[in-house]
Amino acid sequence: MPENGRMSVPIPPVPLDVQHRASLRDHNTFGLPAVARTLVHLKSEADVRRVVDHPDYGLAPKFILGGGSNVVLTHDLDAVVLKVEIKGRRLLREDADAWIVEAGAGESWHDIVAWTLENGWPGLENMALIPGLMGASPVQNIGAYGVELKDRFESLDAVDLVTGRSVTLGAAECQFGYRDSVFKQTGFGGLAGKSVITRVRLRLPKPWQPVRGYLDIERKLAETGQHEPDAKTVFDWICAIRRAKLPDPAVIGNAGSFFKNPVVTPEQCRDIIGRDPEIVHYLMPDGSIKLAAGWLIDACGWKGKSVGRAGVYDKQALVLVNRGGASGAEVVTLARAIQESVYGRFGIRLEPEPIIV
Ligand SMILES: Cc1cc2nc3c(=O)[nH]c(=O)nc-3n(C[C@H](O)[C@H](O)[C@H](O)COP(=O)(O)OP(=O)(O)OC[C@H]3O[C@@H](n4cnc5c(N)ncnc54)[C@H](O)[C@@H]3O)c2cc1C
Repeated sequence: MPENGRMSVPIPPVPLDVQHRASLRDHNTFGLPAVARTLVHLKSEADVRRVVDHPDYGLAPKFILGGGSNVVLTHDLDAVVLKVEIKGRRLLREDADAWIVEAGAGESWHDIVAWTLENGWPGLENMALIPGLMGASPVQNIGAYGVELKDRFESLDAVDLVTGRSVTLGAAECQFGYRDSVFKQTGFGGLAGKSVITRVRLRLPKPWQPVRGYLDIERKLAETGQHEPDAKTVFDWICAIRRAKLPDPAVIGNAGSFFKNPVVTPEQCRDIIGRDPEIVHYLMPDGSIKLAAGWLIDACGWKGKSVGRAGVYDKQALVLVNRGGASGAEVVTLARAIQESVYGRFGIRLEPEPIIV
C-alpha cells in the first residue's frame, strides 16, 4: 500500500476502434465494391502505435486509407486497412513573412482551405475543392491551377509502421515531384505504405499574391473585370470552374484525373506536333514539355465511351467514371485499353495517377 493509503490502479489500455468485414464502397469516391477483413479507425497518433504493438495487427500487411479519392480498389483487402481520422487544426505561429498552420491527417483538405481563408490566411485558394484528406495531400503532392502542395509545405509528422517511431520530415525528405513524393515510391528508400502521416504543417506566405496564368482564371478576370481579385474571390472562381468541369463523386463515382500528363523532350514533342499540330502542350521551366493527357485520350476517340460499366467522362476525357455498379477490374480494363490506343497512335505511355490496389 503506498504511503498516502491509496491503491495505485492500472490505467486500462484504450481499445482500438476496429470493424470486421467492413464494406469500403462508401470509403472510395469511385464507389467500387471491396470488403476489408479488418478496418481500424485511427483517431490519434497513439492509435498508430497501438496497431504497431498489437499482437494480431502489428506484423500483418497494412493499407492506409484517407478519403479514398485517389484509389482504385480491384479486390477485397486482407491487409489491415488503417482509416486515418486524426483531427485538429490550429495556427501554429505567425512570422513577419508567413502564417504557419497545422492540421491533423484526418481533416478534410477542402475544409482546411476554407478555414484558412475565413481566418484571413490566404494561399491555398487555387487548390480549393480537391477531394480527400490532409494526410494524403503530400502523398502525391496535390496541385491545381498553378499551385502544388510543395509550394505551401512546411513539414509533416509520420509514424513508422514497423518501429512505431515518430518522425518529422521537411520538404527535401519528402522528395516532392509532379504528383509524386517519397510516400508514393515503393522502391528502396520509398515510404509507400510504410509510414502513416499524422499531421501536416503549411506555410502561407505574406504578402499574398494571386497565382494567375491559367486560362480559366484569366477568363474569369476578363469576364468579371476584376483585375485585382482577393483570395476569397479566387477561391469562389476555382470552386465554380471545378464544379462545371469535373463530375461530383457523390453523383458519379470517379477519382479525378486518371492519368498523369506525360512529360516529353522537345525532340519528341516536335515529332508529335509534326503529325498532330493541334496537340495541347506546355513548356516546363526545365525545358521539357508537358502534354495534356486528356487531349491525347480525346484524340483517340475515347470521350464518352464505355467498357462494361466503366466509362470516360463526356466533358473531360482525363476522368474515368463509374457508370453504375462498376468493379475495379472494369475500371482497370478500360484504363489499359486507353493506354494501348494512346501508345499505338502517339508512342506515349500514360501513367495512372491513382493507386491501383
Ligand atoms: C473529383 C476529383 C478531383 C480531383 N482533383 C485533383 C486535383 O485537382 N489535384 C490533385 O492533385 N488531385 C486531385 N484528385 C485526387 C485526390 O483528391 C488527391 O490525390 C487526394 O489528395 C487524395 O486524398 P485521399 O485522402 O482521398 O487519399 P486516398 O485516396 O485515401 O489515398 C491515396 C494514397 O495516399 C495514401 N495515404 C492516404 N492517407 C495517408 C496518410 N495519412 N499517410 C500515408 N499515406 C496515406 C494511401 O495509402 C494511398 O496510397 C481529385 C480526385 C477527385 C475524385
